[in-house]
Amino acid sequence: MSALETRISLAEASRRASKILTRGASRELETGAAPTFNDLTEVLHFALGDGRIWLNDQRMVLMQSSVLGRLRGEIIDALGFEAAKALFMRVGYMQGVRDAELVQKRWPNEDLTHALAAGPRVHTLEGFVKVTTNHFEFDSEEGTYFGEFFWDDSCEAAEHLASHGVSTEPVCWLQSGYPSGYTTKLLGRSVIFRETECMGMGAKRCTIVGQHADAWGKDAPEREYFGMEWRRRRSYRVRNTPVEVQEEVAKPAGEQGTVVGVSAAFMRTRRLLEKVAATDATVLFMGESGVGKELFSTQLHALSRRADKPFVAINCAAIPETLIESELFGVEKGAFTGASASRSGYFERASRGTLFLDEISSLTYVAQGKVLRALQEHTIERVGGSRTIKVDVRVVAACNVDLAAEVASGRFRQDLYFRLCVFPILIPPLRERRDDIPLLMAHFLEFYSQRHARKLKGFTRRAADALLKYEYPGNIRELQNLIERGVVYADDGGHIDIVHLFVGSEPIPPFTVSLAADGRLAREPMNQHVSKTSDGSEHQDTAQTCAPFEETERAAYLSALERSAGSVAGAARLLKISRPKLEYRLRRLRIRA
Ligand SMILES: [Zn+2]
Repeated sequence: MSALETRISLAEASRRASKILTRGASRELETGAAPTFNDLTEVLHFALGDGRIWLNDQRMVLMQSSVLGRLRGEIIDALGFEAAKALFMRVGYMQGVRDAELVQKRWPNEDLTHALAAGPRVHTLEGFVKVTTNHFEFDSEEGTYFGEFFWDDSCEAAEHLASHGVSTEPVCWLQSGYPSGYTTKLLGRSVIFRETECMGMGAKRCTIVGQHADAWGKDAPEREYFGMEWRRRRSYRVRNTPVEVQEEVAKPAGEQGTVVGVSAAFMRTRRLLEKVAATDATVLFMGESGVGKELFSTQLHALSRRADKPFVAINCAAIPETLIESELFGVEKGAFTGASASRSGYFERASRGTLFLDEISSLTYVAQGKVLRALQEHTIERVGGSRTIKVDVRVVAACNVDLAAEVASGRFRQDLYFRLCVFPILIPPLRERRDDIPLLMAHFLEFYSQRHARKLKGFTRRAADALLKYEYPGNIRELQNLIERGVVYADDGGHIDIVHLFVGSEPIPPFTVSLAADGRLAREPMNQHVSKTSDGSEHQDTAQTCAPFEETERAAYLSALERSAGSVAGAARLLKISRPKLEYRLRRLRIRA
């Protein structure tokens, strides 16, 4: 504090800044540190009659806050809540970057601490919000940044409240983009700000916390919003769904249709499928239950030369053992009591087309032999008949058990196994093709919205987060069921939220953002610490039950200290923060002297 007892002039600051400071904190600054509001207003010019307003060399506009609110509402209506949020955050980020450039340009010799401290003032000057710096600190060498600010009278929250009422999640999108862009630009490292409390949720004022992008963990969609992500994540918006999905959705009858995916695992499978489709080879699909083996086989059929011929699918496990042979191969008149007329089986019905035998491992040993004969000799005999019938059928089989093990145990014929295993295609479980989840979400959302005649705006971010995080033991079928449930339960015209998707019996509960023991925002099961979710989660009263950030932070430090037997260095390691930072925070929270 002593070095900056009084406000230093810009010239003085310029002289001092020749030594580049790699670390700093807001506490080192006097309240009136440069650039002050006065310094900033010096660069604000109203070029009267010229149709321009300048902030240094940047052209600005004056616009009614209510009009900005209207624009916001229009965009929400046009794009949906989630897409609108991403858009506004990105725009706010750009605004922050521009203002950081302005500060760098106008006060090039200012040290980083002063430049960072100027951000809230520029933002306040621009009339979006009244920013109060609670605290920030950074260490360029360590690559750390932490900042906490308060926002009073957010214009965005006011506009949101006016047109949408109290929200269940923070609404100052444009505004939280701003400090993210500003700080990232100045530090040269990605910093993301999030609101931990928001006026739009009923809080007295908004609280924002910023830290290095990595410190937020993997699930920081802001990275994509702000273009920090080099590998673009697929959007889970309903709009802009890829052409493939739209084509599929356009088919009115299609429960089944094209397979959908972009992940590497999916593409590998798809390529194998395309290679083998044009041939007449027997194909064996392997994979867990619910991965979409039938869908892949319809796709195989659609890509084959047999596409305009029948596709017949049967689940061998669903047919009683005593009936399986007559179902597959048909019955000759008089074969047994009740067979009053000859009847063709699935093989004949699939003539010149494709026969899909799901769960082939549950075929009886005798039926396996007959299938083998059909594959090798292209002939079958009806049950009770002696006539040999020629069949031209491509057989596609699937199983969700280890067929080799079935052979070893004597339950499955080895010769049939070898015959089927010429082109085995393993369909990966959904958890190994997570990149496909957003596409599938959009796909099933469209599909079930049409089927149930619902108009939905999409998923809330939390719902999308949960769907993206979930393990899917039931694979795509489970995802499909979750989304159908969401479509049915969500209010027409609204968003699908977590509560609409999960019934609570799922093996792994959905996740939400909450404060973890190390003081960072992390994913925790929803059924724990619900009252501590900092994004104001599920229930309307969450804003009241939400623990203040400081309290949760204090609990995190105490817990870490306890685990490290009181050692600050040990606790800092546990928390993955620097020891000086922890010491500072402990002093600040009066945990340690
Ligand atoms: Zn807010």
